Amino acid sequence: MLRRLPVAAPLAAGLRWLSTGSGVVTDPLNYWAAQRRPSRGQGNKENVYEPATGRVLCCLDPCGAGEVDQAVKAAQSAFSHWSKMSGMERARIMIEAAHLIESRREEIAEMEVVNNGKSITEARLDVDSARLCIEYYAGLASTLAGQHVQLPGGSFAYTRREPLGVCVGIGAWNYPFQIAAWKSAPALACGNSMVFKPSPVTPVTAVLLAEIYAKAGAPEGLFNVVQGGQETGSLLCHHPDVAKVSFTGSVPTGQKIMEMASKGVKPVTLELGGKSPLVIFEDSDLENAVRGALMANFLSQGQVCSNGTRVFVQSSMLPEFVQEVVRRTQAITIGDPLVEDTRMGALVSQAHLDKVLSFVDQAKKEGAAVLCGGERFVPSDPKLRGGYYMTPCVLGDCTDEMTCVKEEIFGPVMSVLSFQTEEEVLQRANNTTMGLAAGVFTRDVRRAHRMVEHLKAGSCFINNYNITPVEVPFGGFKMSGFGRENGQVTVEHYTQLKTVFVEMGDVDSLF
Ligand code: NAD
Repeated sequence: MLRRLPVAAPLAAGLRWLSTGSGVVTDPLNYWAAQRRPSRGQGNKENVYEPATGRVLCCLDPCGAGEVDQAVKAAQSAFSHWSKMSGMERARIMIEAAHLIESRREEIAEMEVVNNGKSITEARLDVDSARLCIEYYAGLASTLAGQHVQLPGGSFAYTRREPLGVCVGIGAWNYPFQIAAWKSAPALACGNSMVFKPSPVTPVTAVLLAEIYAKAGAPEGLFNVVQGGQETGSLLCHHPDVAKVSFTGSVPTGQKIMEMASKGVKPVTLELGGKSPLVIFEDSDLENAVRGALMANFLSQGQVCSNGTRVFVQSSMLPEFVQEVVRRTQAITIGDPLVEDTRMGALVSQAHLDKVLSFVDQAKKEGAAVLCGGERFVPSDPKLRGGYYMTPCVLGDCTDEMTCVKEEIFGPVMSVLSFQTEEEVLQRANNTTMGLAAGVFTRDVRRAHRMVEHLKAGSCFINNYNITPVEVPFGGFKMSGFGRENGQVTVEHYTQLKTVFVEMGDVDSLF
């Protein structure tokens, strides 16, 4: 059993640890400007909870205009230094940050579990993904290059990839540490600085990343964390000295971010929600198809944007597929996320748990069959009784019109649908306003590629699901957003192209 209360740690503006019950343990240490908070936020303090127990973990005091401005100014000052360093020099600091993450893997993963509720096994993988992302972009930092274009008469033009300036990252609560790394790594590698705002539900681990970058030798203010919710986020988006906003979250918030950024004509990256299809053809390997469906639905208590929650199974395979999926789902160990064997921890909040359970109720009313799960789960350990647990749910007899099939539930609820033909399933799979991901299981290589050619989704998986190697671009089509995270292409989203014309002859004037 791992320790439950994290030790008091230096935190960013707006966070304060509480002890087990008797008040404040430490005052907030402000990472971008230690002890230089111009004000004590906006005074609307919010409790931050530990999902596994329902206990108040710390207190969040949202940053106001003064603090946001100070964070942006600190990032601007860091930018003037960082952007002039060579790619190799930036890479060296980023690699050091990756080493520090590796050495603090367990501590970061525990903090993530305590604040988010996911299992320690998954949290460790998230920390690894964050580290790999920083290593990957460190490798790209010295490869940023332009183009040379020959023009008549020996003249030529060349292009330069230049950083944007102060970038803002705004994160969701489902992968708090990983999102902070996935946004900051390409931004910093390209010579930008970043002000990051985590979700107020999971404000803790982004602060550890700030601490790690600082310890690795990053200039003060290069990666700042400001705490708060939508007001703080909107102050960041409107700030005149912010050059770009990279956002991960829901579609309605993404729309607002785009609107705010449009006022300053700022580029945005939007990583939004999904309602992705997973198509399983009758020639699939059953074992792999079942594994794929479980990975597509139950990671992080189902709170994953790319989840393949509409599982289309070819009718001849449906009975054996359903039997096996239900058997494995019922065998998932739910409970204390800090315990090694736990595979499903707690959902992120009471409000979110209630929302997910209400989707299950609605599905029943609309005629879906609950094949397993979908109920509040109360662990036998008394200290976990206030936690936000539910049993993972498989819904059968689903049809395309049902709410559970149309709307993003963002919880451990799999909807199973049956289909007859490839043409039919393709049309039904694409019948959504979202387009984040899609999956196909089949042994027929031609059919697999034919399907993904026509699937309208940014990330497609053939015979697997929900793997996100950092070398590979990730992002959505349609209302799931645009821009990409990970992969080489993201360099384009964190730089701007300057074209330089060079005349080698005389000026040919018309006047
Ligand atoms: P959310 O949209 O409620 O909040 C996301 C972030 O935006 C939070 O930090 C929040 O404080 C901030 N925010 C809210 N209103 C704002 C405003 N007006 N201005 C500026 N910032 C504002 O989303 P959530 O509930 O935290 O996360 C769940 C959603 O995120 C799901 O829809 C999920 O699919 C999506 N998501 C997408 C990806 C992806 O990569 N595509 C990854 C993870 C989560």
